Amino acid sequence: MRPYILAEANWDYLKDAKFELAVLPWGATEAHNYHLPYSSDIIEADLVSAEAAKIAWEKGAKVIVLPTIPFGVNTGQSDIYLDINLNPSTQYAILKDIVEGLNRQNIYKLLILNSHGGNDFKPFIRELGLQFPKMFICTANWYQALDRNKYFENSGDHAEEMETSLMLHLKPDLVLPIEKWGEGKEKKNKIKAFSEGWLWAERKWSQISSDTGVGNPRLATKEKGEIFFNAVTEKIGCAMYDLSKVDINDLYE
Ligand SMILES: [Zn+2]
Repeated sequence: MRPYILAEANWDYLKDAKFELAVLPWGATEAHNYHLPYSSDIIEADLVSAEAAKIAWEKGAKVIVLPTIPFGVNTGQSDIYLDINLNPSTQYAILKDIVEGLNRQNIYKLLILNSHGGNDFKPFIRELGLQFPKMFICTANWYQALDRNKYFENSGDHAEEMETSLMLHLKPDLVLPIEKWGEGKEKKNKIKAFSEGWLWAERKWSQISSDTGVGNPRLATKEKGEIFFNAVTEKIGCAMYDLSKVDINDLYE
């Protein structure tokens, strides 16, 4: 039993335990190019959270990782077979119940570790902060914790070189052979302001990519995945440690 993983803990241990920080990993169930499993975001959320929490725990942080939520916001992929959508309002309801429980049990710090681009927790955190003033809730997209350009050659944000490398490191038996990898070519919006980044609309996934990938995975390797995984979990683990130790009434200097 890892003492920082709730799914492995038992009442014998938990009846006397006290935690400073809860971590809620949040994934999605969706197509990832031809070659990665639908659970890619869940596996990444699970394993990044667990390894980062291990690092924080070994430094002395009292951190507990909750089970990963397996479904995310997939409104833009409604026509892709078996992509499972949680509407943002449903996601808010789930998060609120979890926050309410933590608040009642005096665990006032929560980190939502997000693994999926369609999930956006910031508006929920603002609203829940008003309802639960003792709670300190924060969120991080683990895939943005490091500058990916230092680790990978090709850009992208879905089943691309980074994600394929990670999955080759974490679950190689669930990755199809390289002959099956699609190019992950993304069609850009005709209106230039969208590619400049300041005008936003949800991407209609089936229209922007023929293989559901965004970003070419061709240069992905297991070795790159391992280096990135170790670096990103070290960074997130240190942040978990800081979060668990900080006084939330004395955050600013
Ligand atoms: Zn993914």
